[in-house]
Amino acid sequence: MNFLSMVHAWCNVHGYLWAGRVLQRHIAERRLRRTVRQAYRRVPWYRDSFDRHGIDVSAFRAQDLQRLPLLTKQQVVENFPDRIVAAGTDLRKAMTSSTSGSSGQALHMAYSPRTYAYYLATALRVYTMVGYRPWHRMTYIKFMDVERPRYSLGPFFRVDHLNSALPVEGHVEALRARPPDLLIGYASSVMEIARYLQRHPEPRIAPKFISLNSEYSTALDRQFIAEVFGCPVYDEYSSEETWMIASQCRAGHYHVFTDNVVLELLDDAGQPVAEGEIGHVVLTTLNNPLMPLIRYRLGDMARARPGRCACGSALPMLESFEGRADDALRMPGGRRIPSAVPICAVIRYIHAYRDAIASFKFLQTELHRVELLLVPGAGFRDEIADGLVAELRPQLDAGVELVPRLVDAIDPGRIKRRVVECRVRD
Ligand SMILES: [Zn+2]
Repeated sequence: MNFLSMVHAWCNVHGYLWAGRVLQRHIAERRLRRTVRQAYRRVPWYRDSFDRHGIDVSAFRAQDLQRLPLLTKQQVVENFPDRIVAAGTDLRKAMTSSTSGSSGQALHMAYSPRTYAYYLATALRVYTMVGYRPWHRMTYIKFMDVERPRYSLGPFFRVDHLNSALPVEGHVEALRARPPDLLIGYASSVMEIARYLQRHPEPRIAPKFISLNSEYSTALDRQFIAEVFGCPVYDEYSSEETWMIASQCRAGHYHVFTDNVVLELLDDAGQPVAEGEIGHVVLTTLNNPLMPLIRYRLGDMARARPGRCACGSALPMLESFEGRADDALRMPGGRRIPSAVPICAVIRYIHAYRDAIASFKFLQTELHRVELLLVPGAGFRDEIADGLVAELRPQLDAGVELVPRLVDAIDPGRIKRRVVECRVRD
């Protein structure tokens, strides 16, 4: 990756924002046609799969996308690298990253330095959209093996990294020593810092804005963080496999980056959901010819938001994310309860008792047992937990125990927090 490819990518992604709906659509459709044709020519998996389904890629148009087969995480894991990466790729010269697949194996992704530059530019665009400028200092809290690396281009693009595995006191100390204009991190890490600062507010840490990533955060979480830090808090939606999918604008709505992904919302049968319905998120990447993902089931669920945004952006909007599909609760009768159901029920309930419950998590350990872990807050009373259980009880099948359990803290996991975790497997 060189400086010129970075500048090119920067102009490319920012130019797209101002292109207007018609031109944006034209650019996205051209990228989609190119992606499908290149995938057929260079990637064995797609060549075989499209041939089997009788797809003629030379006549492919954007509206034909739904005729292409869906791709699962398992298929990506099993076919990496020989059949899912473009033929002739020297992986030693490519950039790679990993995330966890559907059953715990590592899912690897490969991309060229040019794609990497593009992805970095789309990541920065999330922040420029809400006011970040190259002379601002940014602090990035993420999981990593090294302690506190720093980067900068002279006085520009100053980035400090903080390891998410450090204790909260270490984060606060580092943020006070080098106050950022923009603070970026996992929702749970920033939430923990906010709780600490609520108890130890001085000296103040006052970023201009905060951006959360990688895990589910509720509007209430973001409101709390905004109150503690006294600045706006924005959420982004990205994945290791595709990078930027959507992010919140200043008006608070999630805009989909249609220059990076085609986003479809499908029902269980693989058909597009009706307007306003929740669907499985299925993505097609538009800028990674080395390892394109075409109609890839990400495992998340979301709902589209119709209409235009007050911020002026022509990019389409998502209303909300309905939690991760793999975090549904399993009922003995075969039913699955999407994570959004219990999460929303708790959030509605504890809204009235804001200082009563600091944090919560559903943990299904057996088919007939769901634990509700609660970290009690200052205003906690036993009746509040009992009321919460009574509220949730009717959502579950008869015969499933719902057991509240008070804990000091909820283990955030190695990297990401899950609000609903199901340990029952097939
Ligand atoms: Zn907007």
